[in-house]
Amino acid sequence: MNNPPTFGDMQSVAVPCGTCRACCRGRTAVLLTEEDDPAAYDTMQIAGLPGEYFLRILPNGDCTYLGPDGCTIHERAPMMCRVFDCRKHFLSTTKAERAAGIKAGIFKADVMRRGAILVHLARKAHSAELGKAHAQKVAG
Ligand code: SF4
Ligand code: SF4
Repeated sequence: MNNPPTFGDMQSVAVPCGTCRACCRGRTAVLLTEEDDPAAYDTMQIAGLPGEYFLRILPNGDCTYLGPDGCTIHERAPMMCRVFDCRKHFLSTTKAERAAGIKAGIFKADVMRRGAILVHLARKAHSAELGKAHAQKVAG
């Protein structure tokens, strides 16, 4: 418990997305996997990727299912949406890889930024817990 929390530790807590919608905006094309039935979604296809279906992206770059209060199909969102964790993406890449990936359009800067913030907050909470435990030990 003295070491900073790993992704494994953080993973036990669902991604605290709050009001962040970075995954649902900015022309993010969510690929449907074999877990998802394309007929159950409003989809689009991308030239050069025959046989693959993506959630439709609106002209403003938002996912077609993004509403004013977030995802409107939360309970049946595609697999990719359900498993995506920006903390993992942040922790599994180096600074140089992130910079290169963002430049190449593979990673989204705001998603990586959000991952960095959530990792920082988890580490801060961990340090506060350690400090509290130490103070109790000294006092008691
Ligand atoms: S970037 Fe992270 S916090 Fe924001 S919506 Fe995506 S998974 Fe949630
Ligand atoms: S389906 Fe929902 S969670 Fe997935 S990108 Fe669209 S709005 Fe976001």
